[in-house]
Amino acid sequence: AAKSEGRNCYQLFVPSMSEQAQKQAYIQNQLRQILEHNQLEVHYQGQYSVEEDRFIGFEALVRWPQRDNQPRISPAQFIPIAEQSRLIYDLGQAVLIQACTVLQEWQESTHTRHLTLAVNLSAKQLNAHDFLDRLENILCRFTFPFTKLTFEITETAFLEHSECVTRTVNTLKAMGFSLALDDFGTGYSSLNYLQNLPFDIIKIDQCFIQRLGTCNKTWALVKAIITIADAFNMSIVAEGVESKKQLESVIALGCDKIQGYYYSTPIPKEQIDSLISSTTPASPLKLTVNRSTN
Ligand code: C2E
Ligand code: MG
Ligand code: MG
Ligand code: MG
Repeated sequence: AAKSEGRNCYQLFVPSMSEQAQKQAYIQNQLRQILEHNQLEVHYQGQYSVEEDRFIGFEALVRWPQRDNQPRISPAQFIPIAEQSRLIYDLGQAVLIQACTVLQEWQESTHTRHLTLAVNLSAKQLNAHDFLDRLENILCRFTFPFTKLTFEITETAFLEHSECVTRTVNTLKAMGFSLALDDFGTGYSSLNYLQNLPFDIIKIDQCFIQRLGTCNKTWALVKAIITIADAFNMSIVAEGVESKKQLESVIALGCDKIQGYYYSTPIPKEQIDSLISSTTPASPLKLTVNRSTN
């Protein structure tokens, strides 16, 4: 082994390097080049209001560039790798700039001006001491109202370094941005922090939506989450709604805002216009959502 051959001896080829470590190194190198050449892509997934019967916003989702007909590497795979290095900062910045550019374009036209845009933030970004400086550096190039930009943060971001994250999150709220708690219910949800942090939106994770039809307990759980959101004056977005049956379930539970393949998959920005002007799949029930509106 390399160690037994002395401290100053470096082995270039490490046969023991696991397949996973190799893949990780590959992704890291590729991602560095992609960012250097400004080739990272962003897709946008619609968020639909059943009550308003139209798209009310989009979520920006980073995409590995498509090359040589190879399948794109999924963000679930490369985001955690980016988070292990400084690459996550450049990635986050690249996504934010593209998202802000789209949001700015929406201000120019009456049929897009109402749309909000959500951008995911990783805990690592929120923990960076220069996060707010970097943010202001980007935002000063744009004139859209800050209320139109939502930051999505997963609850696991509050597990470590919570003081720094909490301070930054409060600052973001004070600046006027909207805040969404992403993947709600999948981490170690503490109802205590829900009370103390200024979230406007709770996103119910897609794993709950998938289990709705088959599990009574899930039904009760989602019902409880919606009741809490109501009491705290937060709105709810149901993630991962794919089927009409799931849509009917979440509507029956009192959820108005829907994000999922039923209404729209993530699409490149060029396709947004035709999505929002097409007649959308008829909401099964233009029914009043069964929930005390606030
Ligand atoms: P997320 O923020 O919870 O985003 C929702 C994920 O669910 C997206 O996966 C979306 O494509 C997928 N999804 C939406 N509707 C449906 C549906 O009806 N069925 C199914 N099966 N899936 C649906 P995606 O794009 O692969 O992203 C995965 C995760 O990667 C995101 O989860 C987010 O945590 C992270 N991510 C994506 N873009 C960014 C980014 O720009 N920055 C950071 N920090 N994280 C990002
Ligand atoms: Mg998200
Ligand atoms: Mg989510
Ligand atoms: Mg997720």
